[in-house]
Order: sequence, then structure tokens, then C-alpha cells
Amino acid sequence: MARLARVYFPVTALGPGRRLGVWFQGCPIACPGCMSRDTWPADGGTEVPDAWFAGAWAAALTRGATGLTVSGGEPTEQPQALLALLRAVRSTPAPAGADPADVLVYTGRERDEFAALVPAGPGLVDALITGPYRAAEPTTLIWRGSANQRLHLLSDLGRERYADSLTHRPERPPLQVVVGDDDVSYVGVPRTGALPRMERSLRSSGIHLGRSSWRP
Ligand code: SF4
Repeated sequence: MARLARVYFPVTALGPGRRLGVWFQGCPIACPGCMSRDTWPADGGTEVPDAWFAGAWAAALTRGATGLTVSGGEPTEQPQALLALLRAVRSTPAPAGADPADVLVYTGRERDEFAALVPAGPGLVDALITGPYRAAEPTTLIWRGSANQRLHLLSDLGRERYADSLTHRPERPPLQVVVGDDDVSYVGVPRTGALPRMERSLRSSGIHLGRSSWRP
């Protein structure tokens, strides 16, 4: 069983191409300034059986998914569910003629901690971004929220898709806004301070956000 904060397709701002985004629920790391505070409570989100992942991934593939991004929350808090998701992706072949799909995982743990908590073995993860978010260490590197976070390329596919990302600093980071029935979420990695600035700007235009992912 997995407890998820949200699932979204297509994600275009957390990794290259059009991706299935899976946010795990629950994070005890509690980084000040986290943009996904709604994912912190371990008893929040929605439960799905592990078997649900294969169908979700197959559906994303038929809609043109080029990759999977796992974020959170902290995926290592649910290692068995994370492994079930990763194995479902690897055991589902891409449609004929499609490029192989890559797997990008975000964790607030360091790489050795991740390897100890999630014995994924070779081949399940192509790119891994490690380390907690530290608001006092801003970065302009793509896909990362703070300068301490590291991008690890773990496979040939990962090296092919993400080599440029090791040093790429876009003028503006890719971002998506997902508006739900009663909330607003950002998909992507905004620069430090961008979300409070945006909220102030909206407020000055008379738009008050009821709930958002980055406020408790
Ligand atoms: S940034 Fe990531 S690791 Fe840090 S509190 Fe938020 S979800 Fe957890």
C-alpha cells in the first residue's frame, strides 16, 4: 500500500519531456521553506494499493509519457511502495517506436542514506536528486532547489538525458501551476522566495489564495 499526496500528468517542469509525476505523502525532514508542506503529515494524502502503479504508468505511456518523476513528501519513508512503483515502470514496455522512459527520483536524504533505505539496485533509477532543501543556499541550477542538492546520473539513459542538467542554469526555472477544486499547487522548482513574492503580487491584485501547497 502506498500513501500518495498527488499524481499528475503531464508534468513538464520536473525533468525533461512529458512525465508522470508521483508525490509521496509524508515527510519528517521538515525543511524550512518547503514548497510542499501539504505533503508532510504521514496520515494525509490518499492510499493506493501497490498494484495500482502498473495501471497508472501504462496509462501515462499511452498518453506519451517520456519519464516518471517521483517527489514528495519523502519517498524513502515508504520504501516498499517506492520499489513497487519503480519495478512497475521497468516491467512495462514502452509503446513501439517510443523513446525509453527515464526515472527521476527526488529525495531529501543524501545518496548513501537513500541507497540504504531503498535498495533499488542498478537500473531502477536513472537520475537521483539528493539532499534537503536549504533556503539559505539558493541555486540557479535546473531541477534543484538549493545549492547543496546533488544530481546523480545512475544509468546510461540518465547520463544521456540529464548530462546537460548538471550545469544548466536557465534564466527562469520551468514551472507549472496546477489548480485543483480548492487548492493551487506548483509543479517545478521555483527560485528561493518566488512563491511568497507571487502570493504578495496576487494579493495586491485582489486575489487571495485559500490553500496552497507551500503554506501550512
Ligand atoms: S523539501 Fe522535500 S525533504 Fe524538505 S521538507 Fe519538503 S518534502 Fe521534505
